[in-house]
Amino acid sequence: MVLRGTNQESGRPYNRRIVLEAIRLHGPIARGEIARRVGLTVQTVSTIIRELEDQEFIIGAREEPKGRGYPATALTLNPEGGFAIGASVSPIGIDVALVNLSGDIIGQQSREIANPAPELTFTEVARIASELRTLRPKGRLLGLGMAMPGPFDVEAMSFVGPTTLQGWKDVPIAERLNTVTGLPAFVGGDVASAALSERLYGAGRALQEFYYLYLGVGTGGRLVHGGQVLRGSRGNAGEIGHVPFIPDGEYCPSCGNRGCLERYLSVEAFDRRSKIVGEEGWIAEAAPLLRTAVLAIENLFDPETIIFGGLAPEGVMKKLVRAAEPLLPSVAARRERKVPRLILSITGKAALLRGAAALAFSSMMAPRIGGAGDDDPDPLMHKPNREKAA
Ligand SMILES: [Zn+2]
Repeated sequence: MVLRGTNQESGRPYNRRIVLEAIRLHGPIARGEIARRVGLTVQTVSTIIRELEDQEFIIGAREEPKGRGYPATALTLNPEGGFAIGASVSPIGIDVALVNLSGDIIGQQSREIANPAPELTFTEVARIASELRTLRPKGRLLGLGMAMPGPFDVEAMSFVGPTTLQGWKDVPIAERLNTVTGLPAFVGGDVASAALSERLYGAGRALQEFYYLYLGVGTGGRLVHGGQVLRGSRGNAGEIGHVPFIPDGEYCPSCGNRGCLERYLSVEAFDRRSKIVGEEGWIAEAAPLLRTAVLAIENLFDPETIIFGGLAPEGVMKKLVRAAEPLLPSVAARRERKVPRLILSITGKAALLRGAAALAFSSMMAPRIGGAGDDDPDPLMHKPNREKAA
């Protein structure tokens, strides 16, 4: 997807975000190249660049001259130009991190709480967030993103069963987070957040089309299509965990069907089954399901690759991938492949927290018509040193 600038004067906050987004995705990048990509004049882009440099969102470095003429300035995001809080809540606890614009985790704290209730979660997130803020007392905190297990807005499925959170239905989560932290707050699915993190900072950085298979407490996945996480009509597209892989298999309390993938291939399944059959026994049980899942995903979506990540122990994930080889014939079994069919990405919790923070960065910084970008005064245009530390 190519975003284009607008020549209307009222479009200035929008253009700022278009330019910032181009630098975020394609930096280091020169002014002329930005102008070409977003369809604005070099002069307009240069004016915006000055503003963004003044706000310390971006930094420029002279490039080596190529032939004659002045060397171009290559612009990149200033990693310390902004920060966001990334939080994750799951049936096993709460994690909160302070993340910079480049996706680096500056500090992180976790609390193990079984099935954390909403109010306790909000209080803990706010407490940890204010502690983490002290790591960058003068830093500009742009917002907070929280990742939580889906699926969303499904009457019979949300927040039921061992892999989802209970007691969260109808809670105005973003509103409460905003109240307790004072930060603009955004909520997203855990799998979509981790997929976003892979796209921005991880194994999917150079890829436009990949499927992210996520082995969390439950199992899910998201398709990244044209560089964007494919949402579907309610943000649930790619939810492979509740596709029945075993006819008349185990009952799935989350959705009510039988034989769902996540009953066999998930951290919950690993914890439950490895107690009975041992770690190796579980790997032998789960590997054929991973193999079939890979085949199904490839034949449905024809991705460049499948990135496999999640929260299971690293050693277990590695053994599982090895045990799934050789993969089955599918549309992806081509000889001239540039990337393997299945890539293991051991970013685990970090991917979740960086992705959650990216929800806030994207919401505050990305161009959206009718969104924050059209408001004046533009919330991005506050000097960092005017902000007070909490
Ligand atoms: Zn199910």
